[in-house]
Amino acid sequence: MAIKYFPEPFRIKAVEPLRMLTAEEREAKIAAAHYNVFYLSGEDCYIDLLTDSGTGAMSQEQWAGVMRGDEAYAGASSYYKLLEAGKDIFNYGYIQPVHQGRAAEKVLFPILLGKGKFAISNMFFDTTRAHVELTGARCIDCVVAVAKDPSHRAPFKGNMDVEKLKKTIAELGAENIGLIVMTITNNSAGGQPVSMQNIREVAEVAKANGIPFNIDAARYAENAYFVQRDEPGYQNKSIKDIIREMFSYADMFTMSAKKDAIVNMGGLLGVKDANSPLILKIKANCISYEGFFTYGGLSGRDLEALAIGLYEGIDNDYLRYRIGQVEYLAARLDDAGIGYQTPVGGHGVFVDARAMFPHIPYNEYPGQVLAVELYKEAGIRTCDIGSYMLGNHPDTGEQLKADFEFTRLAIPRRVYTQAHIDIMAEALIEIKKRAHTIKRGYRITWEPPILRHFQAHLEPIANEAGKVFKEEYTVAAQ
Ligand SMILES: *Cc1c(COP(=O)(O)O)cnc(C)c1O
Repeated sequence: MAIKYFPEPFRIKAVEPLRMLTAEEREAKIAAAHYNVFYLSGEDCYIDLLTDSGTGAMSQEQWAGVMRGDEAYAGASSYYKLLEAGKDIFNYGYIQPVHQGRAAEKVLFPILLGKGKFAISNMFFDTTRAHVELTGARCIDCVVAVAKDPSHRAPFKGNMDVEKLKKTIAELGAENIGLIVMTITNNSAGGQPVSMQNIREVAEVAKANGIPFNIDAARYAENAYFVQRDEPGYQNKSIKDIIREMFSYADMFTMSAKKDAIVNMGGLLGVKDANSPLILKIKANCISYEGFFTYGGLSGRDLEALAIGLYEGIDNDYLRYRIGQVEYLAARLDDAGIGYQTPVGGHGVFVDARAMFPHIPYNEYPGQVLAVELYKEAGIRTCDIGSYMLGNHPDTGEQLKADFEFTRLAIPRRVYTQAHIDIMAEALIEIKKRAHTIKRGYRITWEPPILRHFQAHLEPIANEAGKVFKEEYTVAAQ
């Protein structure tokens, strides 16, 4: 193996015990959960890779900040501390705290979008897509074609296809496009970074057409790290300078602070121009949906921890360890010939479930098959990022076919060790060995109309012999 594990730039002060259920218990738990990992209890998961959102470990400084949190309803000192941090890092005129990323979307999108409008993104994240659709508007993804080939190694596979963007605007009419959203890193494409050049080019197109340009900024620090490492001309720039340049091209940003800002709850909405007429409308929506605009649905202690986490998340040593951990897992999968979205992105490994189960069609959800197998194999909770997550067409109700069938191993920040990462690799290796014996996928027996993957019920489809596959476990027996 070519890659070394980059050691943690911290040591552990508080521990949280883990419990490994037996194979029989796990089998029963996942069946009782209707084969939907969102119905599993956290304590029934040995390693929980469902998401890297809100699952990071806070630092001693952040916990100290929790004690210092000012709970004043209006104008808390913790709010001003957060404002200063936000203005310093992003160089934006207005910073609005909200309780999480989707709250920023809920506050902003109805101001810019509505029935008959379109929003264009490199790729929409699922809640972002949902909030566009809830306004009555429709979503269009314009990611570069290489993003759709998981085995193709190229830098910045999260980029927008600028030619396709221009063509789409010309076809639909610029007046019908309410918003361009640049997702950094591109979560749904595998945490793939977007280059500075691409952000700049998209900003030019947005400006030329008079379309507002929003950054969906959940993993902006990881994106900046990739720019620093891989984009010519940025090697000697600081992460903060790179972030300021990235955000200088946009008009506003929506951010889930539960990712790169390393808090368990929080979000931000930023507007570059302190005099923008948007700000009054944002404040009005925020007061209705989230709370008074100086707390935005967060406790003072949350605001304080977020102000500190914003700085910890842009530290170079931390980012090198963070991305290095994900790269270590990817290198172990390379050795085992297990396909994933390459090169590996920022926040996890997106295993190519279609390559693992080439015989299982998209409408039997190969990404979900692998997610269930990982739970059964080693108590590892992951999730599908594929046709199961994508859901049905909002107008026709037909199952959509996703560009990828991934199972996402999202790595929480500062939580798991090298030994845990090794267990993840070994579980995947064991499943690959028996993948050919898993003949069929799942069918949905019940689903809600929107964001169905969180709540749907599934059942395994029996194979030709009428038997549902049952396997042996190895990793879990340890
Ligand atoms: C997590 C995420 C969101 C939504 O944020 P929440 O804090 O989960 O509401 C939006 N966009 C992207 C790219 C995300 O990763």
